[in-house]
Formats: sequence, C-alpha cells, structure tokens
Amino acid sequence: MTRNIQQAAEAIQSADALLITAGAGMGVDSGLPDFRGDNGFWKAYPVAARLGLSFIDLANPAWFERDPHLAWAFYGHRLGLYRRTKPHEGFAKLLSWAKIKPDGCFVFTSNVDGQFQRAGFDPERIVECHGSIHHFQCVSGCGSSIWDAGDEQVAVDESVFRAANPLPRCRHCGGMARPNILMFGDMSWIADRSHAQQERFSQWLRALEKKSARLTIIELGAGTAIPSVRFASENVAKRLRGKLIRINPHEPEIPAGCISIATGALEGIRQLEEKILPDAIV
Ligand SMILES: [Zn+2]
Repeated sequence: MTRNIQQAAEAIQSADALLITAGAGMGVDSGLPDFRGDNGFWKAYPVAARLGLSFIDLANPAWFERDPHLAWAFYGHRLGLYRRTKPHEGFAKLLSWAKIKPDGCFVFTSNVDGQFQRAGFDPERIVECHGSIHHFQCVSGCGSSIWDAGDEQVAVDESVFRAANPLPRCRHCGGMARPNILMFGDMSWIADRSHAQQERFSQWLRALEKKSARLTIIELGAGTAIPSVRFASENVAKRLRGKLIRINPHEPEIPAGCISIATGALEGIRQLEEKILPDAIV
C-alpha cells in the first residue's frame, strides 16, 4: 500500500494535467448518504423502506406524473441536503494540486450534487454525466430548455415522505417540473447541458493529446454498479496513455498498469498529500 501511495504521489507531481473522476463514494466523507445496496438507501430513507421502494424504484421519472408529491419528497430532500452540505477538505486539496498544473484540470462525475462547483472548481471544466439536481426541466417535455433551480425551495414532510405544495413548475408551460437528472428508464431527460460539458471535455483531451501532455487521472469512489465513471477513467487512461489512480475501499480492482489505493476518498487524498512534496504546492 505504501508503495502504491508513493507511486501515485509521483504520478500526480509529474503530471502536466489532472483529470479527477468521482462517483458517489466522494460524497460520503462530506456526510452524504451512501445509496449502495437497498440497505444503504433505506438507512438514508426509512420511509422508502416502509413503502418497499428501492433507489431504482424511486429514481424513475414516472413518479413525477403518477405521484409528484412523493417524487419531490425524494428529490426535494436531496436538493436541500446538497445545498446545505459543505464539501469535505479533500476537494480543496485536489484543487490545490490541480491549480499548479500547466494544462489544468477537468472533473468528470456521475454525482448530481454540485459539490465540485461549491468547492471552487471551474464550472466550465466539469462534466456531470448524469446531470445536476441544481437544474430543473419540464416533465411533459414542452420543448423548452432547462433552467437553473436558483433558490427554489421544496418543503418536505420527512415523517410521511411527502413534498408540500407548491411544487416546482415548468417556467415555460406551467406544467410539473423535475430535476435535470438522468433517472432509470428515463426517456425525457434533456441532455443538452451534459452534452455541452462533454464537448468541452473532448476539446481539452484533444489538446492534451496533440501536445503529448502527461495526464494523471485520480478516480474517487466510483463503483461498478453504474460504471459510467470507471469506464470514463479507463478509456481516457488508455487513449492518452495516462496514469490512472483508483481510490476505492470496496471495489479497488484495476486494469494492468494502474495504481489502486483501497481506502475511502478523503483518506486516500490525505495519504497522498503526505507524500506530495510541499514545494509542489504553491
Ligand atoms: Zn413545460
């Protein structure tokens, strides 16, 4: 393990650019609930357990039409929680490593919580591949674009797991609104914002490729259940011959040539920081 930490620290120090990829495990250290497995989800949402609804059952756009007060209980609660949550100190450490890189940094995350923006990462250099809870869209697909949720409030009675009126409405047609998050079985997610982020990311990668920049990828808390982030890390590492550091306490398996650190996200970042030479941080 110590050898892996040393190798990973060297890969971070010698890189021209950093790609930070993150899944749900990144948020756990900030105190956000862990949705892994039904037990993890039901611990966070005991009422959902009583209703016999799993995360996959609830994270479905059909609820916004069938029972919008239930749908908004789930997403409204999360919206409030993510707004209140302060990103853990690992975010700031990552940002300090990234800031001194000549070719900068990009973030690729499946998290919809907006924590990287809150931590001070450049919003123009973040891909949120599953969307963002801080943006809303129309449920009925009136053809309108998405909008920033701003300070729109959703009051939730947690004892019965129901959102109170008024529920968020489409700014264009007045119909029901929903978060601009990619849900399960979701045919109506408006992907424009994520696509624009992906396009900026592709441009950055092409520029790095052109100048043969040395890229190091730090992957944090990204699991195999919904493997979008792991795939992205591995594909980019392969394409740019980058060094992939996978920090994951539960699923630390790695392809050949990568570095595995089998700890939680914050613990892994702390251990790396101890090995990174202080003069590399300005
Ligand atoms: Zn509408």
